[in-house]
Amino acid sequence: MSDKKRALMRSFPGFRTVILAALILFIGASCTIQNDYPNEDPVSENTIILISLDAFRADYVQKIQPPNLSRLASEGVTARAGMIPVFPSLTFPNHYSIATGLYPQNHGIVSNTMFDPRSEKWFRISDRDAVEDPSWWEGEPIWVTAENQGIVSATFFFVGSETAVNGVQPTYWRRFDQTVPGNTRVDQVLEWLDLPVAERPEFIALYFGLIDGTGHTYGLDAPETAEAVLEADGYIGRLLDGLEQRGIEDRVNIILVADHGMSPRSQNRVIALDDYVDVDQVDVINTSPVLMMNAKNDNAGQIVAQLQGAHPNLEVWMKESVPERFHFRDHHRIPDIIGMVSDGWTLYRTREYMEENLSRLGGATHGYDPAALSMRALFIAHGPAFKKKMTIDPFENIHIYPLMAHVLKLDPADTDGRLDVLAPILNN
Ligand SMILES: [Zn+2]
Repeated sequence: MSDKKRALMRSFPGFRTVILAALILFIGASCTIQNDYPNEDPVSENTIILISLDAFRADYVQKIQPPNLSRLASEGVTARAGMIPVFPSLTFPNHYSIATGLYPQNHGIVSNTMFDPRSEKWFRISDRDAVEDPSWWEGEPIWVTAENQGIVSATFFFVGSETAVNGVQPTYWRRFDQTVPGNTRVDQVLEWLDLPVAERPEFIALYFGLIDGTGHTYGLDAPETAEAVLEADGYIGRLLDGLEQRGIEDRVNIILVADHGMSPRSQNRVIALDDYVDVDQVDVINTSPVLMMNAKNDNAGQIVAQLQGAHPNLEVWMKESVPERFHFRDHHRIPDIIGMVSDGWTLYRTREYMEENLSRLGGATHGYDPAALSMRALFIAHGPAFKKKMTIDPFENIHIYPLMAHVLKLDPADTDGRLDVLAPILNN
């Protein structure tokens, strides 16, 4: 039996029944051969399925060898040593940079936890009201560009798609619920592709968070993390089988990304902030690996001076002196004092809290310097728009938006990303 047939049998338990029914239909009609998915208007070759596998470190493909992702990587385009996240290498800022082509200072999602001094509101990713409050979301995500130019879009969970940005939301979208099974997500994507052409999305985004969860809890080398990678790979396999059943596997472009990598934490790599500064003088918004805080009194400069050079694995800057390569100075939600620990280190607000919690410290995390190899993220592009069997150098994730706009034949918004960076991977 061919691999193709075997794949069909696998994903279609009632295959023999279907064959029999099709045969009866065929004899009955005695004229036309029926396709399972008859479609007068085949799926557009501009179609993009953007799939995010949260915290899929670039080297997991080599290390764990998930079969479907390995095949897509070897057949299509992949980034040697991965894709570079934006600063801070956290989930919300990076997904929204992928969607908008903007650095966080230009799209407003400067962290997973933020305080906006103008509105005096807090943003936390677990707070539904905040996540669905459009005032947090700036820039123009690709689905807004698409909808504004007459292209139907759909998201099965993607950061920023649960509210209207500039008054526009994807035609189809889902409120985040991590309990929705992966197969349900994939099957919905396939159903969207089965819609009549006027209702069918050409841009679809899909998100899986399971690898992030196991990475944080168990670490990089744990069997649980490898199992999560293989489980996610199974969802990709189900999607590929579905495309193949529809005869559209060569018509759809798949862009696989991750928001950031992962780095192991250690009880031997810890710093307590209150060893060096009076924490009662600051409002801490984020602690580790990125420190974001404001001085309660007008003495931010003095606090930064105290912290600079205090510990060899902690760097601290005034907002206006954050290294230029981080592009992280120009938004009112960026607090006055920004810091970062070295790769694999953990910062605690107080020594007392550190000592109480140190025995629980393990696993892995992200948020470190985007230049660190540990933070490099998955990138694979596969489909008719892209060259085959190509490996490219690492690039920043802000360049995905102009690439997607080009494939979708959209007039792009102004962004920090540039089409020329990824133009070499385009066919023609
Ligand atoms: Zn993430």
